[in-house]
Amino acid sequence: MTEPTHEEAHTGALGSRLNWLRAAVLGANDGIVSTAGIVVGVAGATGDRSALLTAGLAGLLAGSMSMAAGEYVSVSTQRDSELAALALEKRELRDQPDAELEELTGLLEERGLSRAVARDAAEQLTARDPLQAHARVELGINPDELANPWHAAWASFLAFTAGALLPLLAIVLPPADWRLTVTVVCVLGALVLTGWTSARLGAAAPRRAVLRNVAGGALAMGVTYGAGSLLGAAGV
Ligand SMILES: [Zn+2]
Repeated sequence: MTEPTHEEAHTGALGSRLNWLRAAVLGANDGIVSTAGIVVGVAGATGDRSALLTAGLAGLLAGSMSMAAGEYVSVSTQRDSELAALALEKRELRDQPDAELEELTGLLEERGLSRAVARDAAEQLTARDPLQAHARVELGINPDELANPWHAAWASFLAFTAGALLPLLAIVLPPADWRLTVTVVCVLGALVLTGWTSARLGAAAPRRAVLRNVAGGALAMGVTYGAGSLLGAAGV
């Protein structure tokens, strides 16, 4: 089987869908690793199921809300600066249309068109929708599809929660003797899947991404389990 598309940059509608999917996989990965670290750490200190459930649930909620808030702030800021750039562009198009046409021509020339063709293209684009043309060519944004901060926030919340549910359920559902084994196996297995998927979606080599991802998760669980065991042994 050949894989024709993976060497190409992801642009346009397909690209934004893949980027969105990749962000979701990475959000789930965060949820898996951080919640696994929390519940395995608590399991190092205590076998009390309700303590595990409380810690895991608190970790899930804290993580998903912090991810959502972070994403909301970051996308809002990006949107604000894009709106400001569009407003400035609109003013310039109104106040100095000739200079703007010249600017668009120059930008198209930089992309490899001859002077005459660039001028012609700039005139046609300007005749149809000058703001759209400048937004796309000059600013690299589509004014009709600015990122929505609420969508971004909900997406990260859901992705993190979906990931976090795995270690939470894996630690509270099995019998006490099995809970650590089940959790470690489920978590490492899931990290193979998320590492592989995000690498494929990002057009990177999967094997090293999987190894790094699994190693990161194993390290997180190892460190928190060690810390939890020490605290448990010390009777804190
Ligand atoms: Zn312009």
